[in-house]
Amino acid sequence: MKCIASLFLIAFGLPTLTFAQLNPSLMQAGLDAINSATLSNDQVVQYSRQAVQQMDAQNPVAGPNDPYTQRLNRIVSRHRTVSGLPINYKVYKVKDVNAFATADGSVRVFKGLMDIMTDNELLAIMGHEIGHVINHDSRDAMKSALRRSAIRNVAASQSGIVGKLSRSQVGGLADNLLGASFSRRQESEADDYSYDFLKRNGYNVMALATSFEKLAKQNGGGGGSVTQILSSHPDSKARAQRVRDRARRDGLVR
Ligand SMILES: [Zn+2]
Repeated sequence: MKCIASLFLIAFGLPTLTFAQLNPSLMQAGLDAINSATLSNDQVVQYSRQAVQQMDAQNPVAGPNDPYTQRLNRIVSRHRTVSGLPINYKVYKVKDVNAFATADGSVRVFKGLMDIMTDNELLAIMGHEIGHVINHDSRDAMKSALRRSAIRNVAASQSGIVGKLSRSQVGGLADNLLGASFSRRQESEADDYSYDFLKRNGYNVMALATSFEKLAKQNGGGGGSVTQILSSHPDSKARAQRVRDRARRDGLVR
């Protein structure tokens, strides 16, 4: 075990510590770091829930009678469960053009995004984000964030354990929820998921294309609005075209 713990410290370039300098709680943290390599999927989902709860506490969440909440509730009324996964939806009343979904089935939509998208376009974007959850991209991203967090604990923790994450640790994970970047293949698969979601529920699949085109325009407009969703979702124009091509093949547009 000593050998493995030392390897961890060396491999990640942390300050040089000999094993003898480590106190028992640091050793425990080291063990937890190693255990994180075998984190169960359920644990990852629980940590995702913790991170979202912290995000909710730190952002202006629209109340139940807020027009934004009422609009969102209307849009998703038929989609409280998607592909067998119960989803909880909330609006953050911030101007950023963004939305995200997490492994525990939380979907958060930002006011700035709602202001520029039609109802169907919002469904298309939420469908894409939910696609990342159903395809386990979100869980895998959280798992690697937890591994990085646990590794940091080896150097920083004086109290031991990852069982209940500290506020700052959860905050770091929350940042990761927003900054998660997926591979091109994962993005295409999430796009396909959204397309299928729209099609099977009788919505116009072109909403997926037009939502991407709006994002691309926002970004090119230089109007100063931060289009965060684009930094993790590049190539909006190409992806819109891919949707249009598929819709044409499917006979859904001419
Ligand atoms: Zn995506």
